[in-house]
Amino acid sequence: MAKVEPRPTWQPRPDELLRNVPQKNGTCLMYVGGSWVEASDGGRRELRNPANGEVIARVAEGTAQDAERAIQAAHEAFYEGPWGDSLAQDRAKLLFRLADRIDEHATELSRLETLNNGKPLRETEFDMADAANCFRYYAGLATKPHGQTFEVPAPSQTFVVREPIGVCGQIIPWNYPLLMAAWKLAPALAAGNTCVLKPSELTPLTALRLATWIDELEFPKGVVNIVLGAGPVVGHTIAASHMVDKVAFTGGTKTGRSIMQAAVGNLKKISLELGGKSPNIIFADADFETAVDYALFGIFANAGQVCSAGSRLLVQESIADRLVPAIIERAKKIRVGDGFDPQTEMGPIISRAHLEKVEGYIRSGVEEGARLACGGTRLSGELGERGNFLVPTIFTETKPEMKIVREEIFGPVLVVQTFKDEQEAVRLANDTIYGLAGGVFTNDVAKAHRVIRKLRAGITWINTYHPTYNEAPWGGYKQSGMGRELGTYGYEAYTEVKQINVNLAVQPSGWFSA
Ligand code: NDP
Repeated sequence: MAKVEPRPTWQPRPDELLRNVPQKNGTCLMYVGGSWVEASDGGRRELRNPANGEVIARVAEGTAQDAERAIQAAHEAFYEGPWGDSLAQDRAKLLFRLADRIDEHATELSRLETLNNGKPLRETEFDMADAANCFRYYAGLATKPHGQTFEVPAPSQTFVVREPIGVCGQIIPWNYPLLMAAWKLAPALAAGNTCVLKPSELTPLTALRLATWIDELEFPKGVVNIVLGAGPVVGHTIAASHMVDKVAFTGGTKTGRSIMQAAVGNLKKISLELGGKSPNIIFADADFETAVDYALFGIFANAGQVCSAGSRLLVQESIADRLVPAIIERAKKIRVGDGFDPQTEMGPIISRAHLEKVEGYIRSGVEEGARLACGGTRLSGELGERGNFLVPTIFTETKPEMKIVREEIFGPVLVVQTFKDEQEAVRLANDTIYGLAGGVFTNDVAKAHRVIRKLRAGITWINTYHPTYNEAPWGGYKQSGMGRELGTYGYEAYTEVKQINVNLAVQPSGWFSA
């Protein structure tokens, strides 16, 4: 049964929320080489509010030529501009100030994000604070890189320094628009690189607002470029360019593969943060209420549009009859609605196309014989007709070979699997091409550690799900990606390592006779 639709109590005026984003003739501009520019062919794209389908903005739709201009600007800024020789403490100062701007404008930013992405305000408020903290974390780290020195045979001295990689292309998705921009820009800038950031064509607004402060704070021209446009055009140009030294991508595994292929031409450095089908394992001895709570949070936060979502719930057989109905009952009570409604607990799906893709998975689950235990429908009523709302959906009686168990759905769809014992839990958990995340719920500390160590995944939780911190590395095993973001790992991923050998006795070696 679809839920009673909540009524938004306050609706934003898009033109008011956009008043700080530079525009020309009603079209939001891109930020390239320190200037606000239109698309080279004048192209533009309409953005729609996922909660009601209304057009909220028109933005420049960049071309391959625009991407090339942005890359050129970043190249000049790195190789000819002051940034290449900038001091870490000056970069830190700028990043601290940028973090402060985000905090000072957190309300405006979270509203803009909710307008563009649809997720509830309580989520975007959290994301904005997290983005500010990410800039702050890397501002602090900028002045703390450390090298190594080695005792080598005299008269040499060898030491190792870290240097920026150069021009970094950064392609980000729509599920955490500003936060993903922070994850990419903050470490890259702290390490002294220049950036060409391409937001998702669906959600570029908060990145553009961020660029207004980058401009005000007088980051040198070309250090940060925000170029908009379609992935296969602008994103592909960035990934393929021989003037780009590194490409960092967050998004779907299929797109990640094509970026890797495009990047091969100049063997640029690559980091990929891709999808998942992450197991959330609940043992019979887990704290019941905590397990129910996090099973829901693991999959329904951000309407399941989270790469690390706990989309496969693995429940020990002996408690399945009690636990699964409790989760279903709670899922039915989740309040789905407009992100601006303070009652809303789960927002819309990002786009009509993505909604239909998720619905395709729901149909396939039913066709393959899984039991649709709850949900599976759009929200009823006017809100449901206009917006892209799906109600929380849970499948039970699944089989490991079903498409809904194997593929990333990226929506509010939980599939339940059951297991007999620890060994079977681990086997099922790892039976996936992905390896991004996983959780374990049990009151047996030793068992929790045994199982976590057996999970082939990069991000794991014990008796919790989802909390992550800027200090800790983020990334996956297997087809969930390459490399790590965040923490010192994320910083290092934006550096090259150079060994320097110094002759302390300056005289000929005498290897060849004179
Ligand atoms: P994509 O992975 O296609 O999009 C992510 C980013 O890549 C966007 O900026 C996109 O631009 C860009 N892009 C798309 N195609 C190319 C290309 N050929 N070369 C370079 N850049 C490109 O995500 P989708 O929105 O299409 O979603 C598809 C699936 O990916 C989802 O169903 C979900 O499973 C997964 N996904 C995973 C995410 C994660 O956090 N790991 C985030 C988003 C999606 P544009 O927006 O213009 O297409």
